[in-house]
Amino acid sequence: MGSLLRRLYLLYHELRPGGSSYSYVVGTGMFERQMDLYVQLRKTENSGLWPEITFDDGHISNIEFAAPILESRGLVARFFITVGWTGKKAGYMGWPELRSLHESGQTIGAHGWTHTLLTHCSEKELQVELGDARRTLEDKLGASVTTMSLPGGRYNRRVLAACAEAGYTQIYASIPRAESDGSGPLIGRLNIRGDMQLAWIASLFEPGSTVLSSLERQYRVKAAAKTLLGDRMYARLWAALNRKEPDTDGGDDAV
Ligand SMILES: [Zn+2]
Repeated sequence: MGSLLRRLYLLYHELRPGGSSYSYVVGTGMFERQMDLYVQLRKTENSGLWPEITFDDGHISNIEFAAPILESRGLVARFFITVGWTGKKAGYMGWPELRSLHESGQTIGAHGWTHTLLTHCSEKELQVELGDARRTLEDKLGASVTTMSLPGGRYNRRVLAACAEAGYTQIYASIPRAESDGSGPLIGRLNIRGDMQLAWIASLFEPGSTVLSSLERQYRVKAAAKTLLGDRMYARLWAALNRKEPDTDGGDDAV
């Protein structure tokens, strides 16, 4: 189904009933309306794009709120887990939760070991962030893991080579663009923020919409600014402009 369609992968992090002003958080009511939209879009013939759902970080709300909402609509999402946080960091899923998510038919992938930006890692650190993360997930879940998403969306040629070396065949980034089947190992995604309106999200999927290509252009300008300023300077600047603390994803809004 949908094999000739281009796909748009959506990226979520945390859900909260009632929402939050924090841009990574989507309200559960809004999330339900978005899932209903995706179900509807998948039914529509000649729909512009096929929606796919992903979650980064492994927040506890993924199993508490997202899983039941997905399950009630027959939707399967990809959950990318920061393996070193599992069972260790407050507010994130432990192994029993991950096993239950996996057993309910949802897909589990890796999101590094410590959530550090992979572009800053030595070769040895990359082995932990990529290789150890994958092996630990596979051991604990008793399943093969071949997908990962990049912390902070950050990558370069060396990181992509290390991902392939560690056995990942699909690498999810934060470049807002649609993907054709078999378009390569690097897969773009659109980060869904809590303040995005349903009608605006729906407009992305309309045949001939130019919203996505303008988002991709903005993303490329920002990525160039990061390269120019360096990650730390960019994070401080971003935090100052947005009047909030840089977060665990390096103060970026494309995790
Ligand atoms: Zn992340």
